[in-house]
Amino acid sequence: MAQVKYCSYCAQELCTKYINGRDYQTCPSKNCGYVHWDNPLPVVAALVEHEGTVLLARNKAWPHKFFGLITGFIEKGESPENAVLREVREELGLEGTLENMIGVYPYYELNQLIIAYHISARGKITMGNELAEVSSIPPEKLRPWEFGTGYALRDWLTRRKLI
Ligand SMILES: [Zn+2]
Repeated sequence: MAQVKYCSYCAQELCTKYINGRDYQTCPSKNCGYVHWDNPLPVVAALVEHEGTVLLARNKAWPHKFFGLITGFIEKGESPENAVLREVREELGLEGTLENMIGVYPYYELNQLIIAYHISARGKITMGNELAEVSSIPPEKLRPWEFGTGYALRDWLTRRKLI
């Protein structure tokens, strides 16, 4: 659970309160009563099909040599569909076409909710600032991982009868 120290409305120091079976950071002010619910943050993910391969990316911020789907946050006022196409443009330099939604997946460890889309894209890849490396893998060689965006990949491969 992300810790927040002060109330975002009245700046009082928050205290822990037990509500409906768990502890929440809450504002002690009687006039305020703010509760930091710590709800999951939505994240869009793109399974990008490009020239017969699927593009997996390694983020610079990731400590290990791990490749995953393209992900990003939704901007205020932006639809998830536009957010995922923007991320593909920013991180891969590709104009994508939204094929369909793969599914919605909770990522409890990061308190996120992943909304995953299948995107097809053409053109030359130009990596954005956030990426360290991009890998093009034929779908039949892909194997899903057991966390985060791996479940979206698993469902996509299952529907194509590749696993
Ligand atoms: Zn308050």
